[in-house]
Amino acid sequence: MQAPGYPIVSVRNLSKHYPLRSWWGGKASVFRAVEDVSFDIRPGETLGLVGESGSGKSTIGRAVTMLNPPTAGTVAFEGVDLATLSAPAMRRTRARIQTVFQDPYAALNPRMSVGNYVAEAFKLHRPGMRGLERREAVAGLFERVGLEPRFAGRFPHQFSGGQRQRICIARAIALRPSFIVADEPIAALDVSIQAQVVNLLQHLQDELGLSYLFISHDLRMVRHLCHRVAVLWRGRIVELAPSDLLYENPRHPYTRRLLGAVPVPNPAAERARLAAANASPAAPIAEGGDLVEVAPGHFVAEPTGGAAA
Ligand code: ADP
Ligand code: MG
Repeated sequence: MQAPGYPIVSVRNLSKHYPLRSWWGGKASVFRAVEDVSFDIRPGETLGLVGESGSGKSTIGRAVTMLNPPTAGTVAFEGVDLATLSAPAMRRTRARIQTVFQDPYAALNPRMSVGNYVAEAFKLHRPGMRGLERREAVAGLFERVGLEPRFAGRFPHQFSGGQRQRICIARAIALRPSFIVADEPIAALDVSIQAQVVNLLQHLQDELGLSYLFISHDLRMVRHLCHRVAVLWRGRIVELAPSDLLYENPRHPYTRRLLGAVPVPNPAAERARLAAANASPAAPIAEGGDLVEVAPGHFVAEPTGGAAA
């Protein structure tokens, strides 16, 4: 179930606060977008990060990659605190930590051929690489993500959304990273394409030994893809467990509510689910407190009024 080994990523007590300005421009207070979040990701593991819009998922993703460093707390990558790295060391580490975003069209440069876009990774980080070597490497990456290398000369608008995301994934794996933050990488894609991109990510994980932080609001995709799932609510983790445990025995009221929102394919079961949901008014959700281990590897924020039941 859980991938063995030491963690590749260790996040401890991570907080991100944004200044809130009052309407006349004075500094009023801070908005606590993320508060005291801790988790590990092991080599070859996919950790899902799930929560509704605005819960702080992207903020955590950007803090973990140091694109937008945390207000407090630490992020260690392969055992080294990223905040302690020198600029050259950070540059080398950046190549090993990559991000795939929700909107591949926004990530791509509309005036650059997709082959050049992927090749840019080598130009920035492998200055000694020759042109021919680079073209061969790009062709290899295209094949790896399921695109024909002869399309490398084309431009972003000539591709479908799914193909564009494959191009972004090709660039993300170009420098052989060990960790990828995938922030809603399938949310903008047609449903028929989503599973293909998830399958590609899984395939690449097996081939390259990648670890993922997979950010999503789609619980069904997360269960299929993730070894463990962390549920984020208002900037705090309220539950963290191996996927099967979380889906079979959700403890926190917010997790239950999120799971209840997953449509059931069987109409009769769906009617029964809705009737049950209507019969029991949503339980009040306590502010998430410290995480308590209620079963091996299954952590729940206390007090949740019945988490221990
Ligand atoms: P999610 O990805 O889960 O939708 P985000 O991490 O994008 O959530 O945002 C979490 C909260 O932080 C939101 O309320 C958002 O408005 C706020 N936020 C995000 N970025 C900034 C910023 N640069 N300045 C101020 N508030 C921000
Ligand atoms: Mg987001």
